[in-house]
Amino acid sequence: MTSEFKKLTAIRGMNDALPDDSAAWETLEGVLRDWLAQYGYLNMRVPVLEHTRLFTRGIGEVTDIVEKEMYSFTDSLNGESLTLRPEFTAGMVRATIEHNLLYDRPRRVYTMGPVFRHERPQRGRYRQFHQLDVEALGLSGPDVDAELILMTARLWQRLGLDGMALEINSLGQSDERQAHRAALIAHLEKYRDILDEDGLRRLYSNPLRVLDTKNPALQDMADAAPRLFDFLGAESRTHFEGVCARLTDAGVAYRVNPRMVRGLDYYNLTVFEWVTDKLGAQATVCGGGRYDDLIALLGGKPAPAVGFAIGMERLLDLWSQSRTPAPVVECQVYMIHQGDLAQRRAARLAEGLRDHGLNVIVHAGAPGFKSQFRRADASGASFAVILGEDEMAAGEASVKGLRAQQSVANDTQMRVPFEKLAKFIMDKV
Ligand code: ATP
Ligand code: MG
Repeated sequence: MTSEFKKLTAIRGMNDALPDDSAAWETLEGVLRDWLAQYGYLNMRVPVLEHTRLFTRGIGEVTDIVEKEMYSFTDSLNGESLTLRPEFTAGMVRATIEHNLLYDRPRRVYTMGPVFRHERPQRGRYRQFHQLDVEALGLSGPDVDAELILMTARLWQRLGLDGMALEINSLGQSDERQAHRAALIAHLEKYRDILDEDGLRRLYSNPLRVLDTKNPALQDMADAAPRLFDFLGAESRTHFEGVCARLTDAGVAYRVNPRMVRGLDYYNLTVFEWVTDKLGAQATVCGGGRYDDLIALLGGKPAPAVGFAIGMERLLDLWSQSRTPAPVVECQVYMIHQGDLAQRRAARLAEGLRDHGLNVIVHAGAPGFKSQFRRADASGASFAVILGEDEMAAGEASVKGLRAQQSVANDTQMRVPFEKLAKFIMDKV
């Protein structure tokens, strides 16, 4: 390798999860799968790459994601514009339509995996991050919105997270948003002089989004804006009240935040977010809402839908603040051996143990007994199985308990004939 060779690193904002970190990911994913199963949600998987037009149509042209955050490129084979998914809902809905999943019944589904947004990396904000995405498709009642919110409340409880605050709002239906829009544009026009670049651009194309600004200079203007909530008709209000009543029934506290619009265009009626003050500036852990028009917008037979997404890095960050991670255990049995024949025998014995479902590492590398024992200790295994010269001559293995609670006491060794090894260890684990 020449000295000009530029050191290779991961792309900015895209993280590796090394074994210690990954153990926490896997534990969390397991908790999530069990919790989702309790509510009847089934896993499905969609591609990382989709046609760009799925997102421009599904998420909305005038959104942060579509305007500036997508990783899009042209497929050099056919000139098509493709995009790394910046979120899951559009792809989940596309798959639902394409495979006619709603033809005979509603579906409760979820997926997890990486999504990509070209943002400025900082704590809790990455360019590749992970979402858990949960969708209830084909169901229209406020009971389903409430079920999703109550599910998430149970998850925080299960993970031992406190300080999670729920904010909800209703975005009504599109005719209600139209009436509000006219009033809102009239209001915003009065502030033309102070609107920032984003605000001016969105003034007519998507005025609701102007209120979603984080610019402190615009907060008073946003606070004084006409509220969408005041434009909602009876049906929308009843739906919202239905959700609120069910949250109250379950004892889940919430705050109505009339300014919450969420970052995607496709929402209607209920929208909600879970926020915390334990993650610095990136306060939102989970966001979701109803999107009854999206399935038809993407070419499907009209059907209601509601869902949410959890930012998994933010959830892990929070979770790690409230627990001591268990040590990473690589295996149950660590095989130590001396000499070529013993190495070969150890490999065969290990296969026999694996036939019984045991997790076994056969030592490789530095041959000294001392370093082999050090590795065995570091592996977290319950037992070391040792094949030295004596053992090989006798057709036996020495078994040593590596942890105090094992019934082969620490630092004592038992000799066990090769053919009885698996049974001996199975009786002890
Ligand atoms: P934000 O306002 O923080 O940008 P958002 O409204 O863009 O969030 P959603 O599109 O609703 O976020 O995504 C759902 C969740 O995914 C968020 O609540 C958050 O927890 C997480 N998330 C969003 N963007 C990122 C990112 N760049 N890096 C890590 N997590 C993210
Ligand atoms: Mg965002």
